[in-house]
Amino acid sequence: VVELQRRLRDRELSAVELTRACLQRIERLDGTLHSFVRLNPRAEQEAAEADRRLLSGRGGPLTGLPVAVKDNIHCAAIETSCASRILDGFVPDRDATATARLRQAGVVILGKTNMDEFAMGSSTETSCHGATRNPWAVDRVAGGSSGGSAAAVAAGLAPLALGSDTGGSVRQPAAFCGVVGLKPTYGRVSRSGLVAYGSSLDQIGAFSREVAGAAELLARMAGADGEDATCSPRPTGEFVAACDRGVAGLRVGLPREYFGSGLDGAVDRAVRAAAAELQRQGAAIQDVSLPLTRYAIPTYYLVATAEASSNLARFDGVRYGQRAPSIGDWQDLYRSTRGRGFGEEVWRRIMLGTYALSAGYYDQFYGKAQRVRELLRREFSNLFAGGIHLLLTPAAPTGAFRLGEKTGDPLSMYLSDIYTATVNLAGLPAISVPVGIDGDGLPIGGQLIAPAFGEELLFSGASVIERAFRLAPPSWLQE
Ligand code: GLN
Repeated sequence: VVELQRRLRDRELSAVELTRACLQRIERLDGTLHSFVRLNPRAEQEAAEADRRLLSGRGGPLTGLPVAVKDNIHCAAIETSCASRILDGFVPDRDATATARLRQAGVVILGKTNMDEFAMGSSTETSCHGATRNPWAVDRVAGGSSGGSAAAVAAGLAPLALGSDTGGSVRQPAAFCGVVGLKPTYGRVSRSGLVAYGSSLDQIGAFSREVAGAAELLARMAGADGEDATCSPRPTGEFVAACDRGVAGLRVGLPREYFGSGLDGAVDRAVRAAAAELQRQGAAIQDVSLPLTRYAIPTYYLVATAEASSNLARFDGVRYGQRAPSIGDWQDLYRSTRGRGFGEEVWRRIMLGTYALSAGYYDQFYGKAQRVRELLRREFSNLFAGGIHLLLTPAAPTGAFRLGEKTGDPLSMYLSDIYTATVNLAGLPAISVPVGIDGDGLPIGGQLIAPAFGEELLFSGASVIERAFRLAPPSWLQE
């Protein structure tokens, strides 16, 4: 991204040339990878507009850069499917706040990327459009649910991409695909125009091969929005400048619960090597403890499914997308539309969530999960209040698994969020950054977690790690 910014600014490269190069690469490689579900028919026109801006000196740091957008974030006049049949043919008439702000900055929307249906999953295999493949090994998953965005950036089909992260859906696929993935603080980026999954957990996040690219995207997307009451009015911060600040004097905690059983040995070693690098660059490393981590997965899957069951009630065949032919009354219409429109994982979530919210069980499940959530949040804030600036953990317990390996076992799929879901429950910002390669030649991601609204610290820490562990793209893609 930094290199492309320079070349666009110096007019060595035009936005139209860059966009065409991306489209040609998509044409050549995406038949195999399947990271896009739809291209923007206006991409070249948008690039030409960006060139006019650049020529007249009205360009900014993102002007002319192509961005791929996860298919649950609205782009006006381009279909949003959320990788679900139920939304077939649904075309939003306006941009999400995040995409609108990026367009104002002059980006080129390349197209919409594949995902797990309604962002429910960790592998991009629950998509009604079929799975995305990992550019590092095409028999492996790209991770999920923002697998299309992660794979597109990893394969050089797009320099930048947007995803959404409810329990790890930006950070885990970023780790699996060897790119940078940022999940901002809850409330940092407006959720207006992001199709809701778990409203108290969802945030739009950013993918790039470089930390600076994620910082540039956040700098343009962040900030108060009248369309989202949970979006914070706090000043946004010097995200790009923070990439060069280094880590001297920072205290970085390694929470021991994130290095326990179930963690792959190569991942463990790579994350510890990243800790050693932070130490060489002047940070103090400290062993810390977050004992409630073991409740994160059950808590997350209660809160997320409960909110999903309520959010997904709006897809009834009347207001959006597809409507099943119905011969009965309105209940029959709902039943047949929802029965045909939603896939199996979505049904499972709706049933779990509806159960957790039902009379008699509400307190026992949902109410209890909310109380545990608050305790988890406090556990993090006590560490940060005690002088820890950042936490370093693995982003996922293993590298990318094989396609089909976990589709028959939802619980093992859910466990791949074990290191990321806590962060959403606590509303914190976190970033996944490559820290090495495992024995199978697959990328490993480390995760940095900061206090709420501490994204600058993430960019400083992740940039230090990035300088030490920059991955060369997979060899079959290196031209
Ligand atoms: N894999 C998690 C889930 O299925 C997280 C998904 C996400 O962050 N959108 O809920």
